Amino acid sequence: MTDTIFARIIRREIPATIVYEDEDVLGFKDIAPQAPVHVLFIPKHDAIPTLDDVRPEQAALVGKLVLAAAEHARREGFAEDGYRVVMNCREHAGQTVFHIHLHLLAGAPLGRFGTPS
Ligand code: AMP
Repeated sequence: MTDTIFARIIRREIPATIVYEDEDVLGFKDIAPQAPVHVLFIPKHDAIPTLDDVRPEQAALVGKLVLAAAEHARREGFAEDGYRVVMNCREHAGQTVFHIHLHLLAGAPLGRFGTPS
């Protein structure tokens, strides 16, 4: 597995606040939260660098990231109020860790998004 910081979190080599785990997906709190709730969901066994690298046979894995986020939101009680999920792909989206991840943002009304900086 490519040695990103997220691979090291999966191997428990560096600490993270893990809030969700199943067979395929790990969810942990973002170290620099952009909302009251900010959790990252990552595949545990496939270190896919970017969304652009996902092959058709890996489509279900991306779905599992989304379902894990939705399950976490229901379990933690903020699904009714709502939340946002985001995947950044490469430079213009500001991707900094090249192991695909889904951001779950919640806990307060969120501002609009997608504005060029
Ligand atoms: P992105 O910009 O979409 O690549 O998101 C990467 C995210 O990983 C950022 O929101 C960072 O704050 C977060 N991050 C980086 N290192 C860690 C870490 N060690 N533990 C938790 N989150 C991290």
